[in-house]
Amino acid sequence: MHTCSTGKEKPIALFSKTFLLICSFFATSAHAQIHTAPDGWKELHNSECIRLDIRYATAHNFTKKKIYPCGRCFLKEEAVTALNQVARQLEQQGYGLLLFDCYRPLPAQWKLWEIVSDPRYVADPRKGSMHNRGIAVDLTLYDLHTGKAIDMGTPYDFFGPQAHSNCTDLPEQVLQHRKILAQAMKSAGFEGIATEWWHFSLRQVQAPLAQWEWICP
Ligand SMILES: [Zn+2]
Repeated sequence: MHTCSTGKEKPIALFSKTFLLICSFFATSAHAQIHTAPDGWKELHNSECIRLDIRYATAHNFTKKKIYPCGRCFLKEEAVTALNQVARQLEQQGYGLLLFDCYRPLPAQWKLWEIVSDPRYVADPRKGSMHNRGIAVDLTLYDLHTGKAIDMGTPYDFFGPQAHSNCTDLPEQVLQHRKILAQAMKSAGFEGIATEWWHFSLRQVQAPLAQWEWICP
């Protein structure tokens, strides 16, 4: 709606219109840098039951290097809907969701690959990861009363048998915590993987590898 338009457009208005058109073209192109979630995507923010601790935006990750310019959590809409369902379910049990990683742009996947070129730890960017499709999350539980992260037996991005989903050589309470997280994720359609207790993806959603990167607020 252009309710304020008074007829002839001044050259400056035409210029800014052209500029906006160019901007919106780049906003939808493959290597775009965006402020807000593109169509079909949503951004998750800190809320009462969801907290962000995006590790690749800090040096507090297994590479000891900052991969993202800042921590933001984008996912395909279907994954956000499913995750909100998980959060509602776990809230009743006194848990919140602590997110370590969400959508990971392909350029960031290349950056990770350049630091650790080992497919056991990082997906080859030519093949891509579910994170590059916006349908995977790395997360744990936190106690809604104390705000503290729940003991899952290993830290995030610990590479060893203790992090495996089928590892039983762990304290009973840890096994119970992992079960609570895995069951809640599964009930919303997420699937886990064998080697990482923190990784879940909504594989039934068809989503191509994505390049776009977010801009820091
Ligand atoms: Zn992951």
